[in-house]
Amino acid sequence: MAETIAVENPATGETIREVPVTSPEDVAGLVERARAAQPAWEALGYAGRGRILKRAQQWLVEHAEEVADTIVAETGKAREDAMLVEVAYGANALGFWPRKAPKWLADERVRTTNPFVLGRSMVVRYRPLGVVGVIGPWNYPLVNSVGDAIPALAAGNAVVVKPSEVTPLTSLLFQRGLHEAGLPEGIFQVAVGTGETGAVLIDHVDMVMFTGSTRTGRKVMERAAQTLTPVSLELGGKDPMIVLADADLERAANAAVYYSMQNGGQTCISIERVYVEAPVYDEFVAKVADKTKALRQGPPEGAGSIDVGAMTFPPQMDIVEQHVQQARDAGARVLVGGHRREGAGRFFEPTIIADADHSMTAMTEETFGPTLPIMRVKDADEAIRQANDSPYGLGAAVFTRDVAKGQRVARRVEAGAVCINDAAVNYLALELPMGGWKASGLGVRHGPAGLKKYTRQQAIMTYRLPLKREVHFFPYNAKVTGLITKGLKLFYGRGKA
Ligand code: NDP
Repeated sequence: MAETIAVENPATGETIREVPVTSPEDVAGLVERARAAQPAWEALGYAGRGRILKRAQQWLVEHAEEVADTIVAETGKAREDAMLVEVAYGANALGFWPRKAPKWLADERVRTTNPFVLGRSMVVRYRPLGVVGVIGPWNYPLVNSVGDAIPALAAGNAVVVKPSEVTPLTSLLFQRGLHEAGLPEGIFQVAVGTGETGAVLIDHVDMVMFTGSTRTGRKVMERAAQTLTPVSLELGGKDPMIVLADADLERAANAAVYYSMQNGGQTCISIERVYVEAPVYDEFVAKVADKTKALRQGPPEGAGSIDVGAMTFPPQMDIVEQHVQQARDAGARVLVGGHRREGAGRFFEPTIIADADHSMTAMTEETFGPTLPIMRVKDADEAIRQANDSPYGLGAAVFTRDVAKGQRVARRVEAGAVCINDAAVNYLALELPMGGWKASGLGVRHGPAGLKKYTRQQAIMTYRLPLKREVHFFPYNAKVTGLITKGLKLFYGRGKA
């Protein structure tokens, strides 16, 4: 195995840096170090951990330019994509999780209605799991690798992050930031390496937070089954947008273009397909095509220089190209773009595909590129049927001026999150659970459940002494049986059938 990985700038093709690899054999040592450091981190309590994470927030704000430069260099994305979606997300998360953790993970008093255990006091408490392994993809090196580590840290865990081998620099930089903010040694470590390093990490940690493709997600779950290690999986998507005839078409077209092309379309919750009611189809398609023609693409050279960046991961270019070509062959009209760009760097032109249908892979498989296929539908029912005709169920969007109708449509769409007259921005509200249905995932990030998953629950039941009269069931005899029968009748016998 190579001892270093050469990190490439996808927008220029140049090598940025060589970084040492954590071989699969070294992973056990990293986790052992994390395990040794974790109890002291847990013992700091919410306030102690919060102070350090707050300092990390300050560090991130002060080093925002350096972090954005690093993200842009290793992904080839537009600077604004790095700043708005990644740096701003990280800064928010570093304040949010330590603020919520004491409340969402506080001991919970529970009351029972079961008369057979009346009189006991009951408490549910949340303890950190120990060492959490975070395995992340290449499309958002800060949000999806580092971002998932923050709630795990706030809950009192140590974390080992395995970023994509294509984009390890952001995690390494963040490790430096956390260290400068005062995070104790061993609490946040980065295992740079290939998929094999990730696979071995699963064997050693107490929980795996995985973000990546559905194909790899299955492998992760299979591997974790060997050690009964809990997993949380954020996987692929094919998010639909439904545009009803009464929609504000200007807003719908702006959203369709932005949320399909932003980050070069390499976002799990990108809009990947659009269903438009027939009466407004032509107008919507024309608007989207015009707006897409105006987009600027190329190597990001500072603020405001481009709108759509590079394709980060080399094999992704072929997938995008195949989807576009297959749609063309099957009768769709490619109105804008449709080709990879010649010259240095890896770019695929922002592409609009009209008259698409479900015989086309562009409508049924995750494309993960700057493409937007659009299909004409008869009515809302057909739009919902087509939207649900997918193995995925991550996010969705509905556009209509009739908000009540939009909400009714949203409730019929099979997706973990649905925005009305908006798309994808639910991701930024960390209070909301975000997770995929069907093949898009298992579990959620964000919201109370997105924090509790980094803990294990312990139920503590107390029977307070001294007792007025000791009650004991042994020895079993007719009196005990009589009591149970009487209790059954008294407490449950009056239910109505
Ligand atoms: P992959 O599934 O290819 O890789 C994800 C991570 O898993 C990488 O770090 C990879 O390492 C590692 N890995 C590969 N094989 C294994 C293995 N056998 N065991 C453990 N880890 C392994 O995904 P991509 O990086 O290509 O990311 C794109 C995908 O991520 C898209 O499908 C996208 O939809 C999804 N995604 C989902 C999100 C969500 O919230 N639902 C958010 C963002 C992306 P290496 O790269 O070194 O091979």
